[in-house]
Amino acid sequence: MDLGYEKAFQPVYKEYFIHSFRHMTNEYIQSRLKDLGFKLKVIGEDEQTGQCPCCFHYSIDFGEDGFCDICPVCFWENGGNEPNHMSLEEAQKNFKNFGAMSKSYLQFIDPEGGKKYKKEHYTK
Ligand SMILES: [Zn+2]
Repeated sequence: MDLGYEKAFQPVYKEYFIHSFRHMTNEYIQSRLKDLGFKLKVIGEDEQTGQCPCCFHYSIDFGEDGFCDICPVCFWENGGNEPNHMSLEEAQKNFKNFGAMSKSYLQFIDPEGGKKYKKEHYTK
């Protein structure tokens, strides 16, 4: 297989790769790599991934690092009701009804977001 880049650039590509696929599931990364012609098995877990309290996807940084992170799936800002100008309950209802925490943010969400990040019901 031709990797298409010089060995000297491998650390740069690695950093870019890690940043680009941050928090995404191994299955999604694998499918994207397959599209690019790389048949690789992606293993391991991203321990720095936190769960969005609005849409329940694992799409933000874990713990305090995730404070003020904006979820690419629903556009909720992880910082409570104030920065979002609505309650979490209202945002959850909006996400369920039309796919973003607010209709005005539909244009900013990642349309593939639901496929990229693991989701499970919030248990906190
Ligand atoms: Zn979210």
